[in-house]
Amino acid sequence: MSFWRKTERTTLRAEAVEPGRRRFLALGCACCAAVALPALPAGAAVPPAVQRHLNLAKEAAGNDLGAYLRLGNTALTPPAAPQVDLGPLINQPVPPPGQAFDNLFYVGARWVSAWIIRTSDGLILIDALNNDDEAERVIGAGMRRLGLDPAQIRYLVITHGHGDHYGGAGWVKRVASPKIVASDADWTMMATKLEFDAPEWGRPPQRDVAVRDGDRITLGDTAVEVLVTPGHTRGTISLLFTVRQGGQEHRALLWGGTAFNFGAQPDRIERLQGYIDATARLRDIARQRNVDVFISNHAGYDEAITKLAAMPSAGRNPFVIGADTTVRALTVMHECARATMEAWKA
Ligand SMILES: [Zn+2]
Repeated sequence: MSFWRKTERTTLRAEAVEPGRRRFLALGCACCAAVALPALPAGAAVPPAVQRHLNLAKEAAGNDLGAYLRLGNTALTPPAAPQVDLGPLINQPVPPPGQAFDNLFYVGARWVSAWIIRTSDGLILIDALNNDDEAERVIGAGMRRLGLDPAQIRYLVITHGHGDHYGGAGWVKRVASPKIVASDADWTMMATKLEFDAPEWGRPPQRDVAVRDGDRITLGDTAVEVLVTPGHTRGTISLLFTVRQGGQEHRALLWGGTAFNFGAQPDRIERLQGYIDATARLRDIARQRNVDVFISNHAGYDEAITKLAAMPSAGRNPFVIGADTTVRALTVMHECARATMEAWKA
């Protein structure tokens, strides 16, 4: 029995009591839902160790990375799977597709992202949205608007095994028959017991290419480095690759799973520690490799849609944030995770 079905039954009971309420789902990728800051119970004090890490996160966020600060909410509430109403998230108006760099395109929805890396030998699609219908309407239509042929997708990379990232894989397979890439751990999850599920999500694809930390996905002139960054799922992968604009090269990091929304699951401490370690490791890599572009698979974090809308008038590319800002973003994520660890261990 899936985690979701248990929650669904609970929620349905709540609906019977309160018929006007919309159905809510416990959702794995509540990464970018516009969730209000939780109110602490009156008189409740935030433990000093928690507050210390939240302060460090706030300091690192400055005035430009506030979107990542909401991760700290997990430190202020008991561990529980987030309750998210999936329909309104999926049914938001589709943003225009856009080109972030000569070789990087956004063809995602408003809530969940899909990126395309263009190589000399075809296209790499990163994530497939919630279901086949959405993939066709958003990825397919967006690609055609940008002059990209969906039949040229050679790889579909699934950043992690939650349905808002693999759900449209059936459409991708139908139009392009690409190799489908995920980590071994998340292939196993997708093939056996899904951590989260929802009726809006397409079914997981059949296991195909399993990648490990340090592997490269090579296509034409492009090599995408795979970094396993566990926590959000056990096998979340992040991607490091070169983007180009006007003869200039930049190093881009796409973080593959941001929220620590594993709720009350028994392995939550281990997963949170994995996330703490992964953010620390990638912060070192970002410094060493001068990673000056940091993007997400939910536009609520990297503000990709806002940045794309600003591109025609902007003097410089808003996606080039500099390595220091990449390090700050990873620090916000890291400190919010450490605050949550202090809260959960207390
Ligand atoms: Zn997820």
